[in-house]
Amino acid sequence: MGLVVQKYGGSSVSDAEGIKRVAKRIVEAKRNGNDVVVVVSAMGDTTDELIDLAEQVSPMPAGRELDMLLTAGERISMALLAMAIKNLGHKAQSFTGSQAGVITDSVHNKARIIDVTPGRIRTALDEDNIAIVAGFQGVSQRGKDITTLGRGGSDTTAVALAAALDAEVCEIYTDVDGVFTADPRVVTKARKIDWISFEDMLELAASGSKVLLHRCVEYARRYNIPIHVRSSYSGLRGTWVSSEPLVQKTQQQGDKKVEQAIISGVAHDTSEAKITVVGVPDKPGEAASIFRTIADSEINIDMIVQNVSAASTGLTDISFTLPKTEGRKAIEALKKNRSGIGYESLRYDDQIGKISLIGAGMKTNPGVTADFFTALSDAGVNIELISTSEIRISVVTRKDDVPEAVRAVHSAFGLDSDSDEAVVYGGTGR
Ligand code: ADP
Ligand code: ASP
Ligand code: MG
Repeated sequence: MGLVVQKYGGSSVSDAEGIKRVAKRIVEAKRNGNDVVVVVSAMGDTTDELIDLAEQVSPMPAGRELDMLLTAGERISMALLAMAIKNLGHKAQSFTGSQAGVITDSVHNKARIIDVTPGRIRTALDEDNIAIVAGFQGVSQRGKDITTLGRGGSDTTAVALAAALDAEVCEIYTDVDGVFTADPRVVTKARKIDWISFEDMLELAASGSKVLLHRCVEYARRYNIPIHVRSSYSGLRGTWVSSEPLVQKTQQQGDKKVEQAIISGVAHDTSEAKITVVGVPDKPGEAASIFRTIADSEINIDMIVQNVSAASTGLTDISFTLPKTEGRKAIEALKKNRSGIGYESLRYDDQIGKISLIGAGMKTNPGVTADFFTALSDAGVNIELISTSEIRISVVTRKDDVPEAVRAVHSAFGLDSDSDEAVVYGGTGR
């Protein structure tokens, strides 16, 4: 008998009907002879609604209290799901992250899992229960405070539990049929990927493909846990994310390895903002003091660009991108340290978007970068920032240009499917 961990995202459990539908699927997995551990997200857009509510009472809510509030979302869905399963005649018990043994560091709103001690889950399984765990949350090792793992963090809970329980697979159930070559909400001709390596999936996730969270893929790679991303609405086989290529059985050739594509896909991200520090003296130590100020506020930045200084003034501008949710905090930290850094002014721009092309094949195909820029220029899209890695090229553009740019790049690299249109079964895309 195997152990499977299944994770259901918010759109899959957005109402009572959704919870009952998911309960049936879970019971089916149990009837097939598996031990089943389920990680569940908050219903629908509950987390966003709770954040809106918090912002109405305080513009910068305290991290500890925000975590207390947000974890309530997952507690609602875990209890309802356990009830629905019991109603189908199976034993089920729900657990908060803390009860499930998810131990984290103390960084509120984006805590990292440092240990998983799933003793109570094992006991529940031994007693023939289906164990339901609230995703996205844990308890800090030091302060014993309730923490959350950052937006989309239920994916990480699922993989961390799969690793701690030595599960055969971690199944991520969502509102699309798997990982596609682009977000199916933007590119209706996106193609489903049968298998993708951890490396390419890491880059896609880091570049904004929120179908899987970056930290979850990192965790899965570290513990070598295969992930199967699939729809909770269809019975179709989804996308396997693993270190070893998938082997598919074909009638003509017998076993056949699924090849990794040269280009895995196009990702986009409109959740970032750009801060420009204007009029910085062009001398050693300036960048260090700007980014030390940001790091001390525990803010992660993404892209950086420094302009050439005008010879007459000896001043330059430094721009960087960061999550919009951290924008206010970063501006305040920079203002506080203005005399220490010595800049003229700050500019904040949240109307930007990032488009990235990802694929391990880039390393050996020198024309890829030029083709990417040509596709953007043919679509009339202006580029503001550029960054590259061995297997990724990213550009920042105006936010309004993003959908058109993604479609243009997707077509230019021959990724458009000529058969089925990608199906989006639910969710609001929020
Ligand atoms: P869940 O609520 O199940 O966690 P998410 O909204 O976090 O679901 O993730 C699923 C969504 O990710 C899809 O509805 C889709 O719009 C988006 N998405 C972005 N990029 C991709 C991609 N490359 N493949 C599939 N889905 C993607
Ligand atoms: N409910 C949380 C969120 O919306 C966590 C998750 O869904 O994974 O970010
Ligand atoms: Mg998600």
